[in-house]
Amino acid sequence: MKVIDHIKNANGRTLFSLEILPPLKGENIRTLFDNMDPLMEFKPPFIDVTYHREEYVYKKKENGLLEKRSTRKRPGTVGICAAIQNHYKVDTVPHIICGGFNKEETENALIDLQFLGIDNVLALQGDAIKSEAKFMPEPDGHRYASELVEQIVNMNNGKFIDEDLQHATPTNFCIGVSGYPEKHFSSPNLKTDLKFLKNKVDLGAEYIVTQMFFDNKAYFEFVDKCREAGITVPIIPGIKPITAKVQANVLPTIFHIDLPEELADEIEKCKDNAAVKQLGIEWCVNQSKELMKFGVPLVHFYSMGKSDPIYKIARRLF
Ligand code: FAD
Repeated sequence: MKVIDHIKNANGRTLFSLEILPPLKGENIRTLFDNMDPLMEFKPPFIDVTYHREEYVYKKKENGLLEKRSTRKRPGTVGICAAIQNHYKVDTVPHIICGGFNKEETENALIDLQFLGIDNVLALQGDAIKSEAKFMPEPDGHRYASELVEQIVNMNNGKFIDEDLQHATPTNFCIGVSGYPEKHFSSPNLKTDLKFLKNKVDLGAEYIVTQMFFDNKAYFEFVDKCREAGITVPIIPGIKPITAKVQANVLPTIFHIDLPEELADEIEKCKDNAAVKQLGIEWCVNQSKELMKFGVPLVHFYSMGKSDPIYKIARRLF
């Protein structure tokens, strides 16, 4: 079922959903299921699965020279989505990225998803390759998520790349896109960022999932600004429990987000990571309660491979 229909069917009740990462190459899918099993108690209507592009590693050869190799450390997004749908009978949302794909490869990947009975995709630009300073599209690939949205909408209308392809069966994907309450890092300002976000919605995106935030004020103001800009689709808040002291610096570095002073001060006072984890749970519960009171359609949790704190949070809310 489509994400947008899950939201409609909830009739204003706030739902629980989560984002997971495919396991590291070589790990067993059973580990992933063991991690997810407890969370099924909260009946997520759908689960997002991230996509991780290739990165370059350097291997020392016998002659002492370094060999540059391309590798994907977390392959399997599509397989994991199909396995989850099979195992739990829960809808999945694979993340589809521009990076590393040309348009033909994107089309073929979407055909695979259609055949697997996957009804949703989150269309993204995707992160830059780790060793590269900025995102670079493939030759004949997409630069912006909006172009990816356009291609999926075309396929939903039966329009494929090969113009000679007559009577192609249209796909029927519900398309989500990302939004940034604290602005995307490469955007000159929030107003410009919102202009491009509106463009993705105008092209056919049916809902938005936000980057993580730790201050609900950022989300509330973002929603207000989106509505003022004429964006009417559901805006799903994404939040993450802090689990380690080091995240006070790592999360702002990676995700270009702020931690409120109060949270940063409390983290600093924690004796160890067990205390940080408990603080993260309390912070997330309070954030979620306020978001639910505001009437958000879902609270979407970024698990980043750790289900235990999310379980403790969800038990107190859902
Ligand atoms: P876009 O919407 O393409 O925007 C990128 C930047 O370009 C923005 O600054 C925007 O304002 C600007 N822009 C957009 N259109 C134009 C235009 N026409 N002209 C000029 N500027 C423009 N990354 C992964 O690799 N894998 C994942 O699974 C993944 N999942 C994510 C899930 C969520 C909920 C979020 C919030 C992010 C995720 N990311 C993921 C990270 C994301 O790919 C990066 O943040 C990326 O830099 C931006 O992606 P986007 O789709 O928002 O980009």
